[in-house]
Amino acid sequence: MKIVAFWLILSGASCTLFGGDLADAPVGIYAAFDEQPPINLASTLEKEIKALLAPLGFATEWRPLDAAGQEVWADLAIVHFRGPCELPNKSVDQVSSGALGWTSVADGEVQPFAFVDCGRIRAFVKRGLAAQAAWRREGLFQRAIARVLAHELYHVLARTTAHGSSGIGEAEITVRELLSDDFHFEGRPVRRLLLSSARALVR
Ligand SMILES: [Zn+2]
Repeated sequence: MKIVAFWLILSGASCTLFGGDLADAPVGIYAAFDEQPPINLASTLEKEIKALLAPLGFATEWRPLDAAGQEVWADLAIVHFRGPCELPNKSVDQVSSGALGWTSVADGEVQPFAFVDCGRIRAFVKRGLAAQAAWRREGLFQRAIARVLAHELYHVLARTTAHGSSGIGEAEITVRELLSDDFHFEGRPVRRLLLSSARALVR
């Protein structure tokens, strides 16, 4: 089965299922931002998510949440970015608690709705970023946002609430990992994603 996103996506009825034959259809990622994102964030997110998910069998295409029309997807994720996704000129963040990202679950089933809290991520990595050269901070922050998103996309695409013991699929990610130059999926989440992308080919 292929998932087709209609206008209905806007009203919360996220998708309609029907049979199709486009076995190589990509995953559609529909994104909405609470606050105007910096102009280069979209390209960073696309590049980072592609680098993490393409080796595991997922091609991804991004659309604004209010995009019209009808497209065929192998799978679908609707991502809501909360809070400011850019670095402030001055230090203003208070310590922020709560999840950096989360995915909706209903009746035990993972739903295609993911949330990424840029404000919490910004507060979380603030001290780690301060230790970096100023010119690197924005890029590192945007990559951290992409990694939190990748974690939530793992839940959506693998249809699981389970976590791995290391890598992007682990339950708790540290500041060091979020800002590290080498952080990717490892262990069971890799196997779950490979299984899921293989299943998408025969749906
Ligand atoms: Zn998780």
